[in-house]
Amino acid sequence: MKILCAGPTSIDERVMEVMGKSHTNPDIDLEYEKRHRQVEKKISKLLKTDATSFIMLGEGIIGLEAAIINLVEENDRVLVLNNGVFGAGFADYVKFYGGESYIYEDDFRRGFDIEKLKKFLEKDHDFKVATMVHCETPSGITNDVKTICNLLNSYGILTVVDTVSGMGGEEFDFDDFKVDIALGGSQKCISAPAGLTLVTISERAKEAIKERKKPVPSYYMNFTNYYEYSDSFAFPYTMNENLTYALDLALDILMEKDSLALHKKYAEVTREIFEKAGFELYAKDSRSNTLTAVMVPEGFIAEDILSALRKRGILISKGAGEIFEKVFRIGHMGNNISYENFLELYEKLDEVFEELGIKTEVSLKETYVGLMK
Ligand SMILES: *Cc1c(COP(=O)(O)O)cnc(C)c1O
Repeated sequence: MKILCAGPTSIDERVMEVMGKSHTNPDIDLEYEKRHRQVEKKISKLLKTDATSFIMLGEGIIGLEAAIINLVEENDRVLVLNNGVFGAGFADYVKFYGGESYIYEDDFRRGFDIEKLKKFLEKDHDFKVATMVHCETPSGITNDVKTICNLLNSYGILTVVDTVSGMGGEEFDFDDFKVDIALGGSQKCISAPAGLTLVTISERAKEAIKERKKPVPSYYMNFTNYYEYSDSFAFPYTMNENLTYALDLALDILMEKDSLALHKKYAEVTREIFEKAGFELYAKDSRSNTLTAVMVPEGFIAEDILSALRKRGILISKGAGEIFEKVFRIGHMGNNISYENFLELYEKLDEVFEELGIKTEVSLKETYVGLMK
């Protein structure tokens, strides 16, 4: 099956080979720790920073919850910026750990309106932490992390950014953007298997954790255990060597290309093809470079298109939340990207639309070939 989903993405064969190899004992092999620290440095490099990065075993979500459990204590006020399915999710974690969240809502089909947010913050900025999502994967919107986090930082608010589906495919400068905790995952643009969370943390956030009134109410998710280590205590628990080495290679593969330019190009081509063919894109502005959400034409549901494509050997994504059946999503993300993969997708989509009786203004495949010349 060819995977052109909005994550998890397809995985390079060389990365899968590393996954299948037997390795040593990560708890005692000193070579392992050395390699592990190098991978952590590569994560920081991807975010253009010297700040500390570390790897947690567990899928992307664990990092989101962990960021809250480390920074938020009882009655702390948290600003949850919400313009998509992942945005509001942070409020649940805040509630579990006794914090008080203020959910700031904005249009789900656009990036945050900066002027509106500025006006809101002028009136109310008494927050310890703010959370936001870089790329809202369910809708294909990339928010302006730089402007928003600089604004929050000017009020002394700690910034937590979910860049699980942005990291590696969208511009991200940890220091310049004034981010305090950036959260990434292994299975989106980086195209390693799912199972790792990548955390990058500022000195300011480390300080805030140190100054907590009560200890972090978790062992597994306590960030300090990941960056305050000694010779006898390198990791809080046994790391997964196969995943670390797979991540290492996947990062090398990603970083040896001009990944940002590649994502941008495929995003532009994808959007142009669907608009020329007469489809409406879900995002009205701030369209993501890592995936595109396309509205399903009247009278159909996403499953109609997905199942017809699946029969032809291609897997794409549906929507999520309220737009589960209303959009289909294409991940021009990480290892999904290749000329041949998308040639095949558009060829099969032409067939699918004809089979379903969905009229298109142009052939998607021909438009693709024309645009890629
Ligand atoms: C994928 C993703 C996550 C991790 O969650 P999943 O369980 O893999 O869906 C978190 N945030 C965003 C924005 C994501 O795209």
